[in-house]
Amino acid sequence: MIQLYIPLNFLGVLYREIKQSLADMEKLFSLLDQNKEIADKADAPALQLQGHLSPDVVFQGVNFSYEEKRQILFDVDFKIAAGTTTAVVGHSGSGKSTLSRLLFRFYDIQSGAIQIGGQNILDITQHSLRQAIGIVPQDTVLFNDTIAYNIAYGKPGATQDEVIAVAKAAYIHDFIESLPDGYQTMVGERGLKLSGGEKQRVAIARTLLKDPVMMIFDEATSALDSKSEQMIQAQLKQIAKSRTSLVIAHRLSTIVDAHQILVMDKGRIIERGTHTELMNLAGAYAQMWERQQHSNLATQEE
Ligand code: ADP
Ligand code: MG
Repeated sequence: MIQLYIPLNFLGVLYREIKQSLADMEKLFSLLDQNKEIADKADAPALQLQGHLSPDVVFQGVNFSYEEKRQILFDVDFKIAAGTTTAVVGHSGSGKSTLSRLLFRFYDIQSGAIQIGGQNILDITQHSLRQAIGIVPQDTVLFNDTIAYNIAYGKPGATQDEVIAVAKAAYIHDFIESLPDGYQTMVGERGLKLSGGEKQRVAIARTLLKDPVMMIFDEATSALDSKSEQMIQAQLKQIAKSRTSLVIAHRLSTIVDAHQILVMDKGRIIERGTHTELMNLAGAYAQMWERQQHSNLATQEE
């Protein structure tokens, strides 16, 4: 369970790291109560959703910098229609992961607006915002606890049957059953170390349990074997189906079906459209595609 004896300065470091990797934010926010820099407005209401329908997401003229002197995003404008998938591609450092950090309101923007279902994220509670979004991060950090616990915190109070059901759906149930202590096996830094693909499946199981109306998926750069990769892609497509999704993609082959693709370069959106539209444009995206076709290797962040 939560290790309350961790010294606070260590928590600070941990917090920054986690913020950076987008991992395990739900846990951390409940642990630290909230990020002191980002406060809810007095009497802020919860995000209003229409039943379980996915809302649209709008970035409107977003300018953002982490530090005063260096602007990271410039006038970023896009809309993810309700229930559709938008993919973001671009070189390393172009600002892709920053978009997902801002949507989760890890940082407040300097100007512009981010709206979900017509509600500015500054005006709603952080808790309701984060409840609505499931994240499969680039690198999932597991807690030093049982694998069951690691899956179940997607939904506080989940039953064992629910945990097993999502583990099956994420194709990790058989693996877990093969472990000496099954679902009670300790994982994390001080327990059994799982491979990148296994950790990602835990994150997928967690997200399935959380059943959010929006999804952020930061595709892993590390080369999974192609069979695991294909399975994970198939699962993600299933999760993203009918949920408003933001997919940060490194392998362009995984996002050809996205409703919209944004190409980022140095903090700006330089191209946008479907795969076919961007190929016809014969610009930056088409070049990236050509390059990836040639180097059959999963290239890093391109
Ligand atoms: P991408 O995901 O496209 O590789 P990021 O969105 O992670 O890029 O980063 C965009 C830029 O912001 C990079 O130049 C990166 O160095 C910078 N950056 C990221 N996080 C921080 C931070 N916490 N403080 C300062 N600069 C940051
Ligand atoms: Mg990134």
